[in-house]
Amino acid sequence: MKKRANLCKDLEVNNTMIRKTNSPNVFNNPNKSGQAMDRRDMLRATGAAVLAASAFPLHWVSAAEKKKQKVLYFSRSAGYEHDVVKLKDGKPSISDRILTELGKRHGFEVVCTKDGRVFDGDLDQYDAIAFYTSGVLTKPNKAKTPPMSAEGKKKLLSAIAAGKGFVGFHAATDSFHSKGPRNQNQTEVDPYIAMLGGEFIVHGAQQEAIIRAASPKFPGVKQFGKVQKIKEEWYAFKNFAKDLHVILIEDNEGMKGDCYQRPPFPATWARTHGKGRVFYTSFGHRDDIWTNPSVQSIIAGGLAWAMGNVKVDVTPNINKATPRASQLKY
Ligand SMILES: [Zn+2]
Repeated sequence: MKKRANLCKDLEVNNTMIRKTNSPNVFNNPNKSGQAMDRRDMLRATGAAVLAASAFPLHWVSAAEKKKQKVLYFSRSAGYEHDVVKLKDGKPSISDRILTELGKRHGFEVVCTKDGRVFDGDLDQYDAIAFYTSGVLTKPNKAKTPPMSAEGKKKLLSAIAAGKGFVGFHAATDSFHSKGPRNQNQTEVDPYIAMLGGEFIVHGAQQEAIIRAASPKFPGVKQFGKVQKIKEEWYAFKNFAKDLHVILIEDNEGMKGDCYQRPPFPATWARTHGKGRVFYTSFGHRDDIWTNPSVQSIIAGGLAWAMGNVKVDVTPNINKATPRASQLKY
């Protein structure tokens, strides 16, 4: 329990730090009374600096006492391969690097792989499993990375139901599509989609969308703010689970493209799957989305919650937050 509270605190402190360092007022400009920085600001700033320099947050139990948490980041593409998951000359992708960096900042280790055989191995060692995938992952791909076995897929879903955290980024909803017409909701969905809580249909041209917060207490949302206009490749979804806790809403107002001519729908959400915690965000196509501090807050918050470090109410709110989410056209 001690660790939970502190990881959450660390998240907040780090994000405060990001905002403070971006703000010229704190470090350069004198305040109204002419003093450069009051004592409280000074303490806050130096405290934040200590945190930034150390892999472990203040007050955290030492590595010798407690095992460091571990996230498995699986980015195999059996369909379209996004730039942000591509290895460059064998070097880690930008999403590999940013997740690893977030892990250093918040005290967990990230294991990056495209080898589907990992799901036949020991999944107990991971506190959460993150996906940025595409296509049917049990099938071969162009890059010839080993596929998941059918057993591996079952093992993954059972591990989540038994209590493991799962985090999906962007194209995670573009894996294991449900049978039936692409542009319709299905009555029966693939078990992976049922776990994840939504399924990718299509996207239009990259453009700005209005993203509204629907769950102010979910970790990272405070730092994100109430509403933002953000440029991204925005996904359109179907087959939403009825028990989604919507975190961010995509407001399609003014967007160009047929797939966005529909009522607002969830873009980032959480749900519980048996004893497991599932978080998904449609963020993640563009490089500048991965480097955006407010998006990083959402990602770090989702990971912290999925790993069980932060407790927050995820009562289903889809009917209230996005009542017409399943209406695919106006
Ligand atoms: Zn994309």
